[in-house]
Order: sequence, then C-alpha cells, then structure tokens
Amino acid sequence: MEDIHSVIIVGAGQAGGRAAKAVRAAGYSGRVVLIGEEEHLPYERPALSKAVLLDPAAQAPSVLTGADCAALDLDMRAGRAVAAIDRAAREVVLADGERLGWDRLLLATGSRVRPLAIDGVPPQSIMTLRTLDDARLLRERLAAGSDIAVVGGGFIGLEVAASAAKLGCRVTVVEAADRLLPRLGCPEASAMVLAHHRRAGIDIRLATTVKHGDGQALELSDGSSVPATVIVAGIGVSPDTALAEAAGLECDDGIIVDEYGRTSDPAIFAAGDVTRHRHPLLCRHIRLESWQNANVQAEAAGRSMVGVPTVSAEIPWLWSDQGDLNLQVAGAPERVDTVVMRGDPDGEGGITLFQFQDGQLVGGVTVNRGKDMPMIRRMLALPTLQLDPQALADPDTPLRRLLPARETA
Ligand SMILES: Cc1cc2nc3c(=O)[nH]c(=O)nc-3n(C[C@H](O)[C@H](O)[C@H](O)COP(=O)(O)OP(=O)(O)OC[C@H]3O[C@@H](n4cnc5c(N)ncnc54)[C@H](O)[C@@H]3O)c2cc1C
Repeated sequence: MEDIHSVIIVGAGQAGGRAAKAVRAAGYSGRVVLIGEEEHLPYERPALSKAVLLDPAAQAPSVLTGADCAALDLDMRAGRAVAAIDRAAREVVLADGERLGWDRLLLATGSRVRPLAIDGVPPQSIMTLRTLDDARLLRERLAAGSDIAVVGGGFIGLEVAASAAKLGCRVTVVEAADRLLPRLGCPEASAMVLAHHRRAGIDIRLATTVKHGDGQALELSDGSSVPATVIVAGIGVSPDTALAEAAGLECDDGIIVDEYGRTSDPAIFAAGDVTRHRHPLLCRHIRLESWQNANVQAEAAGRSMVGVPTVSAEIPWLWSDQGDLNLQVAGAPERVDTVVMRGDPDGEGGITLFQFQDGQLVGGVTVNRGKDMPMIRRMLALPTLQLDPQALADPDTPLRRLLPARETA
C-alpha cells in the first residue's frame, strides 16, 4: 500500500468529526485537515429540534472540542467551504482559491434541506432546521402564543411541532399524505402518533397541501386557512453530492460506497448522510439519515482510509423524540407484507411492531416501548431466525425467550 501522509476530510459535521477521531485511533500519525463550512466545531444535530429549541441554555453535544482538535493534532478549518475536488492533482480547492493536497480524501458533506416554495411567501420567510444557527434563529421565533405552521409531518417536522407546542405556541402541521409517518408501515402506529400530537394541542391537517400564504396565514388545498406568522418547512433532505458529482464519482441518490466507505475512486472515501452504502447484512445499497450511521460508517471509513480495513455492518436504527413520544425504528425494509403488533395502542405501555417480508423479520418499530428495541436489533441481526407471530404479539412472552439459546447465553 502507498504511504499516506495527508488526509483531508470535507464536512465537519458528525461523520466528519467521528472520522477524524477514527483515523487517529487507527494509529495514523500524518497530517489531518478537517474542513467545514459552518463556523462551529463538529456537533451532533439531534438536540437541535428538541433540547436546543426548548432551552436557551442547552448546547448541541460536541463531536470534537477545541481541546480534542489540539490533542489529536487536527488542522481544523471551520467556516471554510470546499468548492471543488481536483482528482488528477489530488487536491481540494477551497472557496477562497486555496489548494490543499491529499493522499486520502473523505467526503462527509451530509444533507441539505429540500427547499419549499409557497406562492405569496418570500423564500427567506420559510424557515428550515439543519444547523445550530438555524435552531437558534428558530428558537427566537417560538414565543408563547405565536402561530407556527410546520409543513411536512415527518420526523423533524413533528419534533419541531412538539417542541413549539411545549413552548406554548399555537401549532399547525400540514401533511400531504393521508397519515403521519406512513413509513412506519402500520396505520395503528400512525394513529397513535396522530392522537398523541392532537392531545398536545397540535392541529394536524392530513391529505392537505399549502396553496398560498400572505405572512399572516396559509391557505390550504381543502379551502381552509390556518394562522401562520412563522412557517417551518420539514419536507425532507437530499444528500449533498454536488462536490462528488462534479468530480465524477459514482452517485445515485448519494455517493455510492462499499462497506468500507470507499467510493468509485479508491483514494476517496465518504461517510454519513451523503452516502448510499453497501450494507453487508442486507446485501444491498441503502441510504440512511441517522445519528447511528454517521457514527459507525465514519468510524469504518476513517479506519479503512488509513489502512485498517473496517466494515460498517450494524443493523440500521434511529430514534425520534416528539414531546413525550419516543419512536425507534430498526432495519431497512424494502417491502413489508405482514405486521405483528405487541401491546395495546389504546393502553399506557406503548406498542411494538414487528415487520415481516415473506416470513422473515425485516424491521421493527417501537412507540413509547423502547425496552423492546435491543431485542429487535438482535433478532434482525439473525437473518434466518424463525419467529412465532403469536409469541411476538403476546406481551407476557419475554422477547429474549424467542432468541436461540446461544444468543442469550
Ligand atoms: C434537527 C435534526 C434532528 C435530528 N434528530 C435525529 C434523531 O433524533 N435521531 C437520529 O438518528 N438522527 C437525527 N438526525 C439526523 C442526524 O443528525 C444526521 O443523520 C447526521 O447529522 C448526519 O451526519 P453527517 O456528518 O453525515 O452530516 P451533517 O451533520 O449534515 O454534516 C455535514 C457537514 O458538512 C458541511 N459541508 C457540506 N458541504 C461542504 C463543503 N463543500 N465544504 C465544507 N463543508 C461542507 C456542512 O456544512 C455540515 O456541517 C437529526 C438531524 C437534524 C437536522
């Protein structure tokens, strides 16, 4: 293997920060430059829609502190954007024209929020939430009694709505689908989420889109109108593949990487939201937008790029906290033909959903029943495991008993 003297990481978010730690932990002692567009050192985003909105004193957990950067001898360039990758010269070109050379490059450019256009509303009046600066700006607008309209009832939209309601705002969520979070694959779970938010006083409009706005209200597709002095768009994100595409790397709804995080150029790696990676247990490429993936994939790619080949192979898992509601999702089902429910959707103990495809467990969801999630993740890691639907549905049967004896020893 060629000598590696210089590693550059583009994108100083969660995956970029984790990868920088991983290259050092793998024993690499050469130059590491971490370049990030944001003015902040790498931090974790999940708190942005939760604690950071609710509490002005709350901080987003940091991935790398200034002390870490010094201790790990990282050349941290915050507030600097990379404008291009010159693969022939093995250099990145910064927006100010500076060129930096690399032997190994890692792209961790994350996602960008999908922009929403509303007739009658200037684009700059539609708020989005991706960065710490976005969260601080939004928090200033969430005064008790103000009228907030959240467009999009996905995870982030519902988290923002729940936080705004807790702060005493009047909140409306406008969702185009006919139920919340249809990807949960179970109408009962969607109904539980809907009932929870309605109980918290959030006005949720399903199967509805926004037609027009005037700064005070939004006119909806069903002819009604809702008060909206603050509009937040939560209609999803797209992988930020601009640099990779311009450099001619293989991309298809994400930078295509293998289980080591290697792109179509063996000297260039990628990790986090921006990738579509080959998952060794699922045996196909998937794109994940999650805290877990930003950690484990960055760890694998960081180690692999400095000569310690490491596979990223954890069962996909994410969580969403929406007020008092905790949702956890494991697996990455392509198709679900059968759902087995454990727990009573009208009871206190929450529910767990086991998702099957052709008799095989392919996913699991817990709604206020996180205690079942560790077992679901273990079950999903055993692709040939045969499970009895009746036992799964019976809350008195411990899930541990359904694993093979060698797994519980
Ligand atoms: C509000 C919010 C709440 C979330 N809550 C949860 C949750 O509860 N559970 C969960 O599992 N996941 C959650 N997530 C998702 C999780 O935070 C992301 O999956 C994770 O941050 C992805 O990390 P990343 O490093 O790939 O991308 P990012 O964290 O987006 O980092 C990418 C960085 O690259 C920088 N960059 C991009 N282009 C360039 C360039 N050309 N030059 C220099 N820098 C560049 C960007 O500015 C950014 O700082 C949440 C995300 C958000 C936004």
